[in-house]
Amino acid sequence: MRPNRQQLIRSLFDEYIEMYSSRDNRLTHRFSENFSGYAGSSDLLVNNRKEWMRITRQDFAQVPERIHIEMLDLSLQDLADNLVVVTAFFHIHLPIPNPMLSRETARLVLIFRLEHKDWMIAHSGISIPYGLAHKGEIYPIAQLEERNVELESMIKARTCELAEANRQLEILSNTDSLTNIGNRRLFDMMLQTEWSRGQRSNSSLALIMLDIDHFKQFNDHYGHLAGDDCLKQLASTLSQSGRRAGELVARYGGEEFVILLPNIDKQTVLDTAQHIHQLIQAIAIPHADTDLGIVPVSAGVAYLQPSNQQNALELVRQADAALYRAKSAGRNCIRVMNEK
Ligand code: GH3
Ligand code: MG
Ligand code: MG
Repeated sequence: MRPNRQQLIRSLFDEYIEMYSSRDNRLTHRFSENFSGYAGSSDLLVNNRKEWMRITRQDFAQVPERIHIEMLDLSLQDLADNLVVVTAFFHIHLPIPNPMLSRETARLVLIFRLEHKDWMIAHSGISIPYGLAHKGEIYPIAQLEERNVELESMIKARTCELAEANRQLEILSNTDSLTNIGNRRLFDMMLQTEWSRGQRSNSSLALIMLDIDHFKQFNDHYGHLAGDDCLKQLASTLSQSGRRAGELVARYGGEEFVILLPNIDKQTVLDTAQHIHQLIQAIAIPHADTDLGIVPVSAGVAYLQPSNQQNALELVRQADAALYRAKSAGRNCIRVMNEK
């Protein structure tokens, strides 16, 4: 290309970029009467000079401050004596604090045509950034920012919803569906947790295991739905009896319940077991097939100092063995590990 032609094309382009950067409305006077172009990031083909000027002014109004153009690639073409093309690829740095929106990458093709001694813009195709615009939307810069804010608040709301859903799921998976108290899964988890804590802090861990006496007969006599009600009443009584921090009441299985008591002295465990036994007697659920005429319960109590030498299940084993002795002793009573 002849050096002066190259200079000419370059100066036409530099002038265009300067007017574009400084949002100078005089740029609009450079559009040819016979103009056509693709506007902004939209799919809108404009072949009406007036419409193109309106769009350019709208773009300038959206970001009225000076913008910075960082050129990445540039090609100058000399097609004919009266026709030159500039193809450019650049970052547009917008004066917007949001980093996502402050740097857009654009592709630009400009065709200048010599018309009555003036180089006019016959074609312009700029894309910023292509595909982000809604149908018919030209320069989505201001809208992009709004959309970004919208998107962020949507993500925030969804994150909260998800956390809440997970929390509900966690509660559900740890709850016994019949009695609404903790289930076996929760008990197993808390047993391990409290055992480890007891090891670390050198504090004791106690377990009271309860089993309804002659419950099979209760079901046989009153029906399974009445049996379910009995379990619910018992669970509600047990969960209301809790007075200590960290205490866990759970349904261990069928008609068996457990109360896990961390960091407690032996006398308090025995008192608690007595208290619970009395509470159950006090609600006095009728059971015609027993001596007292009410639902009796047996309890086994275990009390251990968690150590490396033992496993958390030892506590369950000991409570279970004590419970077995309570059953053998005639039921409706409490037995404590290592005691007659
Ligand atoms: P023991 O005094 O030796 O404990 O006798 P038991 O009849 O209470 O014990 P057993 O293990 O023979 O029977 C337990 C009964 O508990 C049998 C079972 O149908 C009943 N059961 C277990 N889960 C439920 C439940 O969710 N609802 C009802 N209604 N009954 C249940
Ligand atoms: Mg049982
Ligand atoms: Mg039983």
